[in-house]
Amino acid sequence: MAALSLENLVKRFGETEVIRGIDLQIEDGEFVVFVGPSGCGKSTLLRLIAGLEDASSGTIRIGEADVTRLAPAKRGVSMVFQSYALYPHMDVYRNIAFGLTLAKTAKETVDERVRRAADMLQIGQLLKRRPRELSGGQRQRVAIARAIVRDPKVFLFDEPLSNLDAALRAQTRLEIARMHEDLAATMIYVTHDQLEAMTLADRIVLLNAGRIEQVGAPTELYHRPATRFAAEFMGSPTMNIMPVTVKDGAAELAGGERVALPGVAYAGQADLGVRPENLALADEGLSAKVVLVEELGEARIVHAALADGTMLSVRHPADGPEPARHAAVKLRVDPERLHLFGPDGKRIG
Ligand code: ADP
Ligand code: MG
Repeated sequence: MAALSLENLVKRFGETEVIRGIDLQIEDGEFVVFVGPSGCGKSTLLRLIAGLEDASSGTIRIGEADVTRLAPAKRGVSMVFQSYALYPHMDVYRNIAFGLTLAKTAKETVDERVRRAADMLQIGQLLKRRPRELSGGQRQRVAIARAIVRDPKVFLFDEPLSNLDAALRAQTRLEIARMHEDLAATMIYVTHDQLEAMTLADRIVLLNAGRIEQVGAPTELYHRPATRFAAEFMGSPTMNIMPVTVKDGAAELAGGERVALPGVAYAGQADLGVRPENLALADEGLSAKVVLVEELGEARIVHAALADGTMLSVRHPADGPEPARHAAVKLRVDPERLHLFGPDGKRIG
């Protein structure tokens, strides 16, 4: 296991700068998730760490060693991809053992490591099967087991669950979390799925167009997003954003209604953000009209329009009567859970 550090890392493809100066320290044993929209550079950053791409400039250190110019096989990293390639003619045991066998590892060591990894991922009873006799989830676990047995310093995962259906994704996510607990290994996990990032990460690195937008614990990104981009990326349904004019400690909405912003000294144009669970149908509050109600089972999402047409989503309890379409309602805003962003997109207060 090892710590990892990136210093002013840059990657260009031709004229295009795809990774635009990344500085990041990852602790030994930490589970870090790179998250961000498609095309923001997550895979490229992971491939730079693995050595599958050459850095244009900057430094990559694993433990004490500068590995920036080192061949992939010498870096002590193991990578699991979204599309895993298992050898169809080999059984699960030999697929998992393949790298170790190639490296001429002693038979007993191979056996011990293969069985331990297989047990960890609950595929111990499948060792004699061929890949075609496995489900997608089982195959992906074989690919993960193959990475484990190599006993790498750092594990790299690039969207390993994207090809699985929702139930298997949730289950395999748990396996990965447990595996991290068991191995206490340094892991970097790439996903575009903010829920996967929230549930797995010790620390989230949110990327936006090749730069780090925000780094922090999942709850930190959720409750104190540093930018409007971070606010809208984390959370589902997405945070409501209302254009407002701020003056005298209150935000004035487009329709003229006011929301108190105690302690805010800022004055000028801004965006007021509030998550769906921090809005509630109440006797007093912003006037809105119900447009649509989505039933989620455990809750309902009420979509309502303010007088000026701004749409807001409200997380509403599933018990009790369902708000009627077109009904006039009042929306109470939780004053403790407001987010304010300036014209530059940065958090205010
Ligand atoms: P992500 O994994 O976050 O979806 P990628 O790291 O795959 O994003 O890609 C980031 C950007 O770099 C994209 O705009 C992509 O088109 C570009 N890119 C990735 N690989 C190459 C390459 N080999 N040549 C040119 N452009 C590339
Ligand atoms: Mg990718």
